[in-house]
Amino acid sequence: MALVNEHFLKLPGNYLFADIAKKVNAFKATHKDADVISLGIGDVTQPLCPAVIEALHRATDEMATVQGFRGYGPEQGYDFLREAILKNDFLPRGIHLDIDEVFINDGAKSDTGNIQELIRWDNSIGVTDPIYPVYLDSNAMIGRAGMKDDEGRWSNVTYLPCNAENGFVPELPSHRVDVIYLCYPNNPTGTVLTKDELRKWVNYALKNDTLIFFDAAYQAYIQDDDIPHSIYEIRGARKCAIEFHSYSKTAGFTGVRCGYTIVPKDLTAATLQGERIELNPLWLRRQSTKFNGTSYLSQRAAEAIYTPEGKEQVKETIGYYMRNAAMLLDTFRRLGFEVYGGENAPYVWMRTPNGTPSWQFFEELLYGARVVCTPGVGFGPSGEGYVRFTAFGNYEKTQEALERIEKWMK
Ligand SMILES: *Cc1c(COP(=O)(O)O)cnc(C)c1O
Repeated sequence: MALVNEHFLKLPGNYLFADIAKKVNAFKATHKDADVISLGIGDVTQPLCPAVIEALHRATDEMATVQGFRGYGPEQGYDFLREAILKNDFLPRGIHLDIDEVFINDGAKSDTGNIQELIRWDNSIGVTDPIYPVYLDSNAMIGRAGMKDDEGRWSNVTYLPCNAENGFVPELPSHRVDVIYLCYPNNPTGTVLTKDELRKWVNYALKNDTLIFFDAAYQAYIQDDDIPHSIYEIRGARKCAIEFHSYSKTAGFTGVRCGYTIVPKDLTAATLQGERIELNPLWLRRQSTKFNGTSYLSQRAAEAIYTPEGKEQVKETIGYYMRNAAMLLDTFRRLGFEVYGGENAPYVWMRTPNGTPSWQFFEELLYGARVVCTPGVGFGPSGEGYVRFTAFGNYEKTQEALERIEKWMK
C-alpha cells in the first residue's frame, strides 16, 4: 500500500485565486452582460519589451543551427547572465558577489518553495502576516508548519502581524526563531522597509543564528533612494540571508520564466552536533539533482534586460504600472478610503470601510461596482479587514474601474 503524504491534507483546499474565480463566475452566471474588471490577480499585462523580443528571436535562430544549438546548460545558469546580474544588480550598490553565489532559476516561486529542503524538518518558522502563501504552504507540505487551528494559524509558525497600527513594520519576535521569511517590497501590502528597519532584522538574525529567506521579487518597483533593493546592502547579511529575485514582475517574465537566487558562500547552518555547514554547495547539490536548468532562450531574454535599451524599456513598463498605482492611491484617498503601499510596489492595500470582513467587501465591490479585488485575509489572519488592488492592469481599464467604484460609493 502506497501511503500518501498526509501533510498535504492539512493545506487549505483551494488556492486563493481559485476561490476568487469561483465567486466571479457565480456573479457572471447571474449577470450575463456584466463586464467585470479585475484588479485582483498579481499578473502583469504589458507585452515583453522589444529588446527581450529581439533576444528571443536571435536565440531561437541560433538553436536552429548545428553550431548554435544548445542542449542542457550549466546547472547554475549561463555565465553571460550571471555576469550581467553581478555587474548590474549588485556592483552598483557596492555588493561584491562571486559568480558561484548566483543560481539562475525558472522563477522565484520554485526556489522560495524549494529552499526549505536545505533545513531540518523541525526548524521553527517566522513569517510576516499577511504573506505570499508559497512560503508557508511549502513548509506545511513536509510537516514543518505543524497543525492548523480554526483561524488558519500553523502551530510551528510565529506570525509577525503587519497592519495599519504598526505602520506595516513587523516587530522582531519576542523569542528566537530558526528561519524567517521576509518579502520587500511586500506582496500583498505593497509596503517597504527602510535600510534601518531591515538592519534590525539582519542584526536579529546574526545574534540569534537565524536564517533569513529574503524575497526581492518587487525590487525593480522601488522609487525612493533609502529603500534597499537587496538585503546584502546591509552589513553582515551574507552570513545570514538567501535572496530571491525574479524577472516576472521586473520585465513581464511571468510566462517566459526566469529569475535567480543568491546563496552566499559565507552562509552556514548547524548540524545537531554544532558543526557549521555551508549552504551554497548544498543548494548546488540540490539543484543539480532536481533541476536541469532554465531554458537558454529565457536566459538570453533575461540578459537583454541589462542592455541600455533593455533597461530603458523595462523602466518604461514599470513606470506604466506605477502610474496605475498612483491613480489608485489618489482616487481611493479622495474617496475617503484608507490605503497603503503603492509607492514602491505595484500593490495598493486598502482597509475596508467600517471593519467590513475582507470577503464581504470583495462581494460588495463585485456586485456593486463589478470590480474584483483580492481579499486580504487570503494572505493570512492579519489581512482580515483589508483588500489588495493590483496596479498591473491596463491603464484605461484601471481608470474605468475607479470610475465605477466612485459611482458605487455615491
Ligand atoms: C510574483 C512573485 C514571485 C515571483 O514568482 P515567479 O515564480 O518568479 O513568477 C515571488 N515572490 C512573490 C512574493 C511574488 O509575488
